Amino acid sequence: MGAGRYAPSPSGDLHLGNLRTAVLAWLFARSTGRRFLIRIDDLDRVRPGAEQRQLADLAAIGLDWDGHVVRQSDRLPRYQAAIDELTAAGRTYECYCTRREIQQAATAPHGPLGHYPGTCRNLTDAQRAAHRGDERPAALRLRVTTGEFDIVDELHGHYRGPVDDVVLRRGDGIPAYNLAVVVDDAEQGIDQVVRGDDLLPSTPRQAYLATLLGLPVPQYAHVPLVLNAAGKRLAKRDGAVTLADQLALGNTPDRVAAALACSLGFPPLSPAELLDGFDPANMPEEPWILDGNGLLQPARCP
Ligand code: GLU
Repeated sequence: MGAGRYAPSPSGDLHLGNLRTAVLAWLFARSTGRRFLIRIDDLDRVRPGAEQRQLADLAAIGLDWDGHVVRQSDRLPRYQAAIDELTAAGRTYECYCTRREIQQAATAPHGPLGHYPGTCRNLTDAQRAAHRGDERPAALRLRVTTGEFDIVDELHGHYRGPVDDVVLRRGDGIPAYNLAVVVDDAEQGIDQVVRGDDLLPSTPRQAYLATLLGLPVPQYAHVPLVLNAAGKRLAKRDGAVTLADQLALGNTPDRVAAALACSLGFPPLSPAELLDGFDPANMPEEPWILDGNGLLQPARCP
């Protein structure tokens, strides 16, 4: 039996956009007979207490999950093993660039912003030796042999995107998100990844990395985000956008869950009640524009 998952970063409370994505991940998994796992992506940006509040909020809106919650910080040796495997295959190199150098190079007409231009890829041994005394420790990058990779997404269809020399281990020694997510999804038996469509552009990199490591590539479904009234990604400052904010206004978790359902074009029901008849083809393709001021109520329901 396969599994789906929701993998929040414990950097603060989940907002309504995060909760909506979690509901979808749960519906995709449960409606296809999969297990549903929660993984805490806590390799950076950890706020004390956030994990507990996130789990409580997910349960309050009617989601359940299987097995123990897994934390990435407990799995560092697994990521190192994958890095060692890639290094043994000649697939990694040290990178001494600062963030600023990368940003400056990436605005040159090499490719999309953030696309690493390969500055440290072909340094000579002497050049590398000269960096050994750097105060800032080197990051470790993947040496790619392709510029693009194809994936299939349940909602976006065929998607081809850039693959660059992604960071595998940051200068501070912490494994990078793109590596950790690939190692974890495979090891946890996750064969269905449902997440916000802001992560679609990173997906070809991850699928490529999985392939290099001999790991299966999961099915993907990148779902529309929630945006604020200005059309920007929802943020905490956009009003009453967390469950706690809504409860403080007098709302209930059930009504919030029902409002999330309506925003997806479903009837105002709980996740469990939506399961029967859940069909992703009926969801809107556009983002949900949310005015975070005031009580969230089921509206525009079918
Ligand atoms: N932890 C990531 C985030 O909260 C999501 C990772 C993923 O779903 O692959 O943005």
